[in-house]
Amino acid sequence: MDLTPAKGDRVPASLPAGFEFNQASLQDYVDCPRRFQLRYLLMQPWPALVAEPPHEFEAHARRGADFHRLVHQRGLGLDPEILASTIHDPILKRWWQTYLAHPPEDLPEPLQYFEVLVAAPLAGHRLLAKFDLLAVTPGKRLVIVDWKTMRRRPSRTTLAKKLQTRLYRLLAVETGARFNQGQPPRPEQVEMIYWFAEDATTERFPYDADQYSADRYELSRLIEEITARQEPVWPLTPDVRQCRFCTYRSLCERGIWAGSSEDVEDDLEFLDLEMDLEQIAETEF
Ligand code: SF4
Repeated sequence: MDLTPAKGDRVPASLPAGFEFNQASLQDYVDCPRRFQLRYLLMQPWPALVAEPPHEFEAHARRGADFHRLVHQRGLGLDPEILASTIHDPILKRWWQTYLAHPPEDLPEPLQYFEVLVAAPLAGHRLLAKFDLLAVTPGKRLVIVDWKTMRRRPSRTTLAKKLQTRLYRLLAVETGARFNQGQPPRPEQVEMIYWFAEDATTERFPYDADQYSADRYELSRLIEEITARQEPVWPLTPDVRQCRFCTYRSLCERGIWAGSSEDVEDDLEFLDLEMDLEQIAETEF
């Protein structure tokens, strides 16, 4: 397989100075540097399906987005029964009833912020995130809640390693003063909770100063590594399981068939993430 760019091909040598990182782009790099290069440097259109069958995959992604919208509207004070009357999809209806009967427990009060956009600088770049829910007792606790609607639940070990888990807690510390009476929260005051719509279970990840320092170091190192890359073709992951749900399979000659949508272990929130992130005000620096 010859992946060397043809003469005349436009191959940016490195990231533009203003490139902004989020959990999806960082996770792409960790999963496969070549995927990061294709998606964010070369802006390669997606030549393949993420998962099969396409209509089922698309319906699942749309259902997940609708669930997030319903929870957000409930958080804004809309009547849950009225919201329920707008649901026609049976799976979405089941998730909604599950949420109403078993929302995440022990959330701090009285403040709740939905769909919160945050940003902070690190290693010369901007880090961005969108929290589904941030629940706060000022001066005491800040809890990030992330709604998960995937069919196949990842293990706790997998979730702990996810860039989302590491980045979100880090950004809660870095940007938390605006929700915490002007005081930056201590890492020990921050927690992240994943809530799973299929069975109303949760996975909780507390935080501490050691993990915060480790995350700052590791994310800085990662960003420096990405920005230093100069090769025309960045390394392809040796872990071919990463290719099952990758849209660049045909480009990399890593198979033509998509994995089953039943096996997707992510919520594919990148579908609407980029537009939302552009809305973050520069003043958050
Ligand atoms: S198909 Fe595999 S090797 Fe190619 S970009 Fe995707 S994950 Fe990387």
